[in-house]
Amino acid sequence: MIELFGFVFGAVISSYLYTTVERNVDSKNKTLFSRCNKCKKRLVWYELVPLLSYLIQLGKCRKCKNIIPIRYFLLELIFGLIFLFFYLFFNNLIEAIGLCLIFSILFYISYYDFLTQEISEIALALLFVVILISLFVLNNITILNLYGALVSGGIIFLFYYLSKEKAMGFGDVELVLALGFWIGSEWSLYFIFLAFILGGIYGAIVLLFKISKLKDRVAFGPFLALSSLIIYIFSI
Ligand SMILES: [Zn+2]
Repeated sequence: MIELFGFVFGAVISSYLYTTVERNVDSKNKTLFSRCNKCKKRLVWYELVPLLSYLIQLGKCRKCKNIIPIRYFLLELIFGLIFLFFYLFFNNLIEAIGLCLIFSILFYISYYDFLTQEISEIALALLFVVILISLFVLNNITILNLYGALVSGGIIFLFYYLSKEKAMGFGDVELVLALGFWIGSEWSLYFIFLAFILGGIYGAIVLLFKISKLKDRVAFGPFLALSSLIIYIFSI
């Protein structure tokens, strides 16, 4: 039962998060209600049930038949599966909840960064707090966490400083301080290394398929977030 709850909760959280990011990014869209992107029809509760609404409506708005992007459906599915995975993998409800929270905030930061090239300061502050609390509760906090923040934060600060903010912004440095603290010093170099590899793979794909031009700045936050999650799980 708790497995099903975890899955549904993940799907609900994801739909809340991406709509919140999109609303915060789009200053014209300050309405509190979810609406169809095209005809602006206000969605009622049964059109907001994650996954099921999409399937019942066959991926279309009920009024104007506008196609609802499948990425929303996939995101809800992936979030649900990831929450379920955290619960099954960690076998410790407290740790699983902490990880679900960190994952959700990282998703918010990444999606916001992807759309605006900026790290949301509020989300970053919340991330710091949640990381601190979850390390304290799990009794997992040592001086190595501080070293982790300094080592990984120091490397990214160098990139920031030497590239004169072209390669990364100060938001990236702050994000790395939080994530390096979470990961700890033993794995901090792997964390940074993997983030660069993931960013490089993405850059190569973008160039290969000419999705966007080379001079377009690529948000680095999503790669830092993904790398930290992979390293955290592997370091257990
Ligand atoms: Zn519509």
